[in-house]
Amino acid sequence: MPSKVLIREDLCKSCELCVSICPVHVLALSNRLNSSGYHPVELVDEEKCTSCTACARMCPEAAIEVFRPVKTEISQKE
Ligand code: SF4
Ligand code: SF4
Repeated sequence: MPSKVLIREDLCKSCELCVSICPVHVLALSNRLNSSGYHPVELVDEEKCTSCTACARMCPEAAIEVFRPVKTEISQKE
């Protein structure tokens, strides 16, 4: 299953706004450095993420994109 949260690490400025807004606390600064010298945010527990999109809406750098699962109906023929 593809990740629910896509983080464009090179856009992140480590402001931690997304970290503080996440209601289930699954975002954290990583130990890595991006090309601008910031520690980019990472998703630390994919299972707990509810795809609420709060982090993506909060990010001033538009560095986060959230994918929500699409519900599909399968019609069955008899
Ligand atoms: S989509 Fe919601 S639950 Fe998932 S990481 Fe972002 S703020 Fe947290
Ligand atoms: S809100 Fe955006 S720029 Fe700030 S830490 Fe989160 S991903 Fe990085």
